[in-house]
Amino acid sequence: MARRPKSGNRRELSMQYISTRGGIDPIPFTEAVMMGLATDGGLLLPRAIPRIGTTTYEEWQGLSYPELAFEVMSRFIDDIPEAELRNIIARSYATFDTDQIAPLVHKEGLHIMELFHGPTLAFKDIALQFLGNVFEYLLEKQDSVMNILGATSGDTGSAAIYGVRGKERINIFILHPEGRVSQVQQKQMTTVTDANVFNIAIRGTFDDGQAIVKSIFNDLGFKDAKHLGAINSINWARVLAQVVYYVYACLHISKHEKDKATNFAVPTGNFGDIFAGYIAKQMLPEGSIHKLLLATNANDILTRMVHDGDYSLASVIPTSSPSMDIQSASNFERYLYYLLDEEPARCKQAMEQFEENGKLDLSDFKNQIQRSFAAEVATEEDVLNTIAHFHKEHGYILDPHTAVGIHCALKHQKEGVPICCLATAHPGKFGETVEMAIGKSFELPGSIRALLDKESRCELMDADEQQIRDFIQKHARHS
Ligand SMILES: *Cc1c(COP(=O)(O)O)cnc(C)c1O
Repeated sequence: MARRPKSGNRRELSMQYISTRGGIDPIPFTEAVMMGLATDGGLLLPRAIPRIGTTTYEEWQGLSYPELAFEVMSRFIDDIPEAELRNIIARSYATFDTDQIAPLVHKEGLHIMELFHGPTLAFKDIALQFLGNVFEYLLEKQDSVMNILGATSGDTGSAAIYGVRGKERINIFILHPEGRVSQVQQKQMTTVTDANVFNIAIRGTFDDGQAIVKSIFNDLGFKDAKHLGAINSINWARVLAQVVYYVYACLHISKHEKDKATNFAVPTGNFGDIFAGYIAKQMLPEGSIHKLLLATNANDILTRMVHDGDYSLASVIPTSSPSMDIQSASNFERYLYYLLDEEPARCKQAMEQFEENGKLDLSDFKNQIQRSFAAEVATEEDVLNTIAHFHKEHGYILDPHTAVGIHCALKHQKEGVPICCLATAHPGKFGETVEMAIGKSFELPGSIRALLDKESRCELMDADEQQIRDFIQKHARHS
């Protein structure tokens, strides 16, 4: 459990969560997880980020991944008993194919942290395995049920389905655009035939699916009656689970490169992963994390933000790293809150302005932003070249998202500053681009090959809200 000072006002000192827009009373961790998006439209954040002293940090050296996860998470959670939290963490990472959970490899002077050893071969498993088990624990305790509803362009849907498959009190409904997700992604989702999993392919785009989901969530009567739950990347539990591997990386890298602050290169879409790095940077002793290098594809709003303070929407350009084809990064508001001196009124005003005009001028904050972040863009050609180069020189195959990060890291590489690149997906998930880059086919992992022969189950529907509602109505779990 989080160490609480022995005396003093407990309510003041325990870990509480607030909204970036200031419209809710402080709540404990478990309520924040169940709330997802704050009820005032903002995002939830810990009232204060716990700080880790050097002595504690050094004691963490040598902990296993689950042990470290407990140490980090328990500083943000004080309303789940220690034994339960340890159990949730142990079960969440027992599904990974290596005890190291997030192994590091070393190529071309870079530290590459492989975050794709979970059941769906992308880094989203690290958070969604945990979130699924937290939901299960809380629903059991509250004797309640949940119907999860989400739209996916590929990776989130499969990771969420694997996070809750077979769970007693949860049904999950995932919408994906028919024919617009990769074959592997489609198979990963639809071959999970547990009775609580409902895949819906819609005749339309990801945006159509997302709009339907949003509209259903906005019907608060339906949302309450059906106990609808969300799994998107704004859930604080997802960010928290991702803080762990930044700490794990720093501890491992500092064994090889003593007393040097580490840079992280992070392939970025919704700003969730890199924001977890920002939390880790605040939490760890000064000089543990140097800079967070924000790596984007052609959808470069965040790069423009870091370079010029220009946070303005453009239209979404499809690329070979589809999980990063995002303009409006749903976690950005969390960073904005810190940028605006943790003043919720300013954050609310800025977000309302952004929602109205599609842009924010942050040029006055450029220096402040650049103290924590650097940014770089990788073109489609850069991605293919980077994959080809790593294959030729190191016999190591990168997925296109990871290649965006590696390309940007190589541009920023400096003598004496370690860089850790987050490898966010297994290349087998994006085989077509990879084969195009390396000029031949490559061996797919057994778990992907096995998918092809599995039975699959999926409903096909028009992008019609009423049809989807009727379907949920019929198949929702009731308490
Ligand atoms: C989701 C995803 C990303 C982007 O992560 P964000 O947290 O949205 O910034 C990058 N790579 C892969 C493979 C992903 O699935």
